[in-house]
Amino acid sequence: MSDDATPKIKSPLSGLGLTFLAPVAGDEAAVSRVPAAPTPAAGQSGEPVSARVVIVGSGPAGLTAAIYSARANLEPIVIGGVVGGGQLMITSGVENYPGFPEGVQGPELMGLFRAQAERFGARIVDADVDRVDLGGRPFRLWAAGVEYRAEAVIVATGAEALWLGLESETRLRGRGVSACATCDGFFFRDKEIAVVGGGDTAFEEALFLTRFASKVHLIHRRDAFRGSKIMQARVTSHPRIELHLNRTVEEVLGAEHVEAVRLGRTDKPGVETLRLDGLFVAIGHRPNSAVFREWLETDEKGYLHADGATTASKIDGVFVAGDVDDPRYRQAVTAAGEGCRAAIDAERWLEAQEAHAAQSLGAGVTAKP
Ligand code: NAP
Repeated sequence: MSDDATPKIKSPLSGLGLTFLAPVAGDEAAVSRVPAAPTPAAGQSGEPVSARVVIVGSGPAGLTAAIYSARANLEPIVIGGVVGGGQLMITSGVENYPGFPEGVQGPELMGLFRAQAERFGARIVDADVDRVDLGGRPFRLWAAGVEYRAEAVIVATGAEALWLGLESETRLRGRGVSACATCDGFFFRDKEIAVVGGGDTAFEEALFLTRFASKVHLIHRRDAFRGSKIMQARVTSHPRIELHLNRTVEEVLGAEHVEAVRLGRTDKPGVETLRLDGLFVAIGHRPNSAVFREWLETDEKGYLHADGATTASKIDGVFVAGDVDDPRYRQAVTAAGEGCRAAIDAERWLEAQEAHAAQSLGAGVTAKP
């Protein structure tokens, strides 16, 4: 489900912008705690697999939609990605998900979501959706060579943070390299950190991080910013934010955790080393919407559109939840909330369809002599 070219663990990683502070390496044990998916009995004969609701994505939005629709007896199938669980699967130390006062490891949290969905009968398929046909009902989706047919579809494929693409950045992700200040800023109290980027996200992250850090360096590759003037003014006038313009991060230095960054200059030759404890990459996000773009409306960045008041898309019976339609909040808890809304919207929509069909049938019967 990923269409992001930046390096990452192969996963849908449906971008919930939660925490990246804890180690990526070493998460293997936590990942293995996620229960194995049951293999759906159908589909092995080459026959299409039919379901009332198919949910695409197995991050907090997808699995919350699964819990709600399973409890509504809709027997959902979740096509959750080859490595399911969303972005929390490369996360540990989640401290902002309600209900876990001591914090919880990201993969463990997703294992709990999954176990809860399966307990109520959701079937979870560990495959990527590679093609969809939303041109008529039943909707059709293909994953790992199996065709799925659904009366209603919930798209919860998430979004991914963009990364710089450095080997050292990947190695130190969760060890001082993060893409979410809201999640990880707390860990950098009285530390010196940097934010990379020149858009509103970078501005917002830098300003937020001044609550914790002793100093925030803003590293941007140009001398002009993309972000809004008002945010720019706040950043440039902040006494604890230092600008490093016309610079790119060439390497993140540190064996076990971030110790410094090596900066290259874009305006003239030169290399500098900046001592740091943390590096926040804030160069944008990319929604995992590629397979749906032919059918559903997106903005210029590829975020899908729900109608605002509900999770309905422009196609009757197709609902959108989580980060794939949320460039703003990108939190696990907001995605879970949207998954709940989408399941309720889908259930009500299916009910209305059935009521309508029954009414038409009734009208047909009474009209007969
Ligand atoms: P953005 O506006 O696309 O900015 C991304 C920034 O990262 C740009 O400055 C870009 O540099 C830089 N960048 C991209 N790739 C890079 C790379 N490989 N290496 C170094 N730098 C790189 O993305 P965003 O800041 O996430 O904002 C996305 C949208 O959300 C925007 O419309 C923004 O206004 C909105 N937003 C609004 C708020 C708010 O209103 N509070 C908060 C956050 C975001 P260049 O400028 O050189 O291209």
